[in-house]
Amino acid sequence: MAQVVRIHEHGGPEVLKVEEMDVGEPGPGQVKLRQRAIGVNYIDTYQRSGLYKMPLPFVAGSEGAGDVIAVGPGVTDFKVGDRGAYAGAIGGYASERLMPADRLVKLPDSIDYNTAAAMMLQGMTVRYLLRQTYKVGPGTTLLMHAAAGGIGLIACQWAKHLGATIIGTASTPDKLELAKAHGATHMINYKTEDWVKRVKEITGGAGCDVVYDAVGKDTYPGSLDCLKPLGLWVSFGNASGAITNFDILLLSSKGSLYATRPTLGTYVAKREDLIANANDLFDVVSKGVVKINVNHTYALKDAAQAHRDLEGRKTTGSIVLLP
Ligand code: NDP
Repeated sequence: MAQVVRIHEHGGPEVLKVEEMDVGEPGPGQVKLRQRAIGVNYIDTYQRSGLYKMPLPFVAGSEGAGDVIAVGPGVTDFKVGDRGAYAGAIGGYASERLMPADRLVKLPDSIDYNTAAAMMLQGMTVRYLLRQTYKVGPGTTLLMHAAAGGIGLIACQWAKHLGATIIGTASTPDKLELAKAHGATHMINYKTEDWVKRVKEITGGAGCDVVYDAVGKDTYPGSLDCLKPLGLWVSFGNASGAITNFDILLLSSKGSLYATRPTLGTYVAKREDLIANANDLFDVVSKGVVKINVNHTYALKDAAQAHRDLEGRKTTGSIVLLP
């Protein structure tokens, strides 16, 4: 029997129930994975709370790394014993699971299970945000909110490697220091400072080419005031709550701005795009350009505590559950 953390009704961290489950054998196109490490992401809290509605009941989480222990009919890319990692396949908080083989990526020997489980969702997200949604390079000035979080620390390192000027925000002095140590050029405490004014000062009044905003409610519409004319607002998350009053006319009055609300799922829907994205991520991590900070590990059964800490802004970098 596998140990899983299942949700029967939407709610707070207390709805994460530790249970035993017979996961069965893989069907056509599936593999069975013995998981060695499981990623915890902010999206897991939206799926738990019901901000993102899920069919109930479901096993929480969508990211992990482990060993293939069985393959279903028609699977040719994987064999028993292969190491694999994935993101975006619901059912992650489990010691063993079935999953579609076309969502799994082979893990290079140079990357350990904890690193893989911590980075697939956040790292592939940063890859599409910096390389596709906006092509960041030398000369780019960007604003990254929550720069000391899981996404944030990966983004600071990768954007620095690409030559960008990075303005980051975070809520405590320790977080400001941490993000700076990971490549942020300027850091602003958005809890205590007038961050819009500070961005204008730092950019000499010009504003940023692109703002990456996954804080949501609390940083809207201020983030729009941090952009140059024709700048791009990338709204990709809701850590402080969802934006419910989006006003498209603001894009006009604030300088013919662009706005997008992207998801990783769209960018890696095709298997070839998933592989290309993962290979880029494996490359920067294997070369040491991006270090994955697994700053918090919990036993799988303590998933509720991991959610409390993540939502309580007590974490930095990435979080992993160990089965
Ligand atoms: P983080 O580790 O970044 O944790 C969230 C951070 O948000 C906190 O540490 C906190 O940093 C900041 N924050 C600001 N306001 C609040 C608030 N009111 N309550 C809680 N936290 C707050 O999480 P992840 O790296 O997992 O994800 C970051 C964001 O990226 C999330 O919004 C997530 O949904 C989004 N995301 C989007 C994807 C996409 O493709 N669209 C894919 C993956 C993630 P501080 O204390 O410094 O303010």
